[in-house]
Amino acid sequence: MTAPKKRETKKTEILRTVRELRARVAAWRERGETIALIPTMGDLHDGHLSLVRRGKELCARTIVSVFVNPTQFGPNEDFEKYPRREAEDFEKLETIGADVMFAPSVAEMYPAGFDSKIIVGGVTSMLEGAIRPGHFEGVATVVAKLFGMASPDVACFGEKDYQQLKVIEKLVRDLDMPVRIIPCPIARDEDGLALSSRNRYLDERQRAIAGRLNRILAETARRIESEPNQVERILVSEKESILSAGFDSVDYLTLIDAETLAPVEKLQKSARLLVVARLGPTRLLDNMPVGL
Ligand code: AMP
Repeated sequence: MTAPKKRETKKTEILRTVRELRARVAAWRERGETIALIPTMGDLHDGHLSLVRRGKELCARTIVSVFVNPTQFGPNEDFEKYPRREAEDFEKLETIGADVMFAPSVAEMYPAGFDSKIIVGGVTSMLEGAIRPGHFEGVATVVAKLFGMASPDVACFGEKDYQQLKVIEKLVRDLDMPVRIIPCPIARDEDGLALSSRNRYLDERQRAIAGRLNRILAETARRIESEPNQVERILVSEKESILSAGFDSVDYLTLIDAETLAPVEKLQKSARLLVVARLGPTRLLDNMPVGL
């Protein structure tokens, strides 16, 4: 008989107010315990949980925020429809042994009279920033608020949202925030599809097509590495491959400097290949490093 899977017994608390969160954080600080924050919008999957595991390796305490942040959604985006599965999220966090699930209401995060925003320059002007105006202001503002509430030592972010990671790194650098940003690798399904809460929107046919994106991205990276002067030509031809694979459109397939996010025309040092392709209304994001 196989032994039952061991379940961590550490209790996870749900906190819903800034006051409660600050009180918990103050008690931990009093005992000299370090704190990791993992900001999420919930509907937790193994990608999110890999961030929580990383936080647990680095700090004595982990706080996972679960908040579908309205200010980072555009007027025609999926804020209303975004999956909300609080009970399941809580169970997953209990199993993995997170200390706190911070699940505030919109009114708690943005009380009447709230009227400030954080604008990070440079790395927000292109790609997602150009396609989703205001998105990174919403992200930077909510993350800065969470840092202010939880005063974490470290905060874990996925490379899945590569531009977002660079925006947060710049936010922390520019505003001297005393928190270390930990980049975490992309968790994928068996066929290579990057895990995402929005994958739920895909029907069976779309899900089969979605699995091809990562393979095309890997092939693009390999071609660029072997022909570093032919970046533009390779990107044009691989965009065609994405469409031929069944995607409805490609928002971008681009090679960028890994730090400034400026387009790279000739591969001379390590860079990042980013793609966003659409299946119906669903945008699938993926990226990978490209080296020489
Ligand atoms: P979200 O709930 O989509 O806002 O994501 C919360 C955090 O989880 C962000 O830092 C994401 O980059 C990260 N994340 C989402 N999907 C993945 C994934 N497949 N692998 C690693 N991190 C991820």
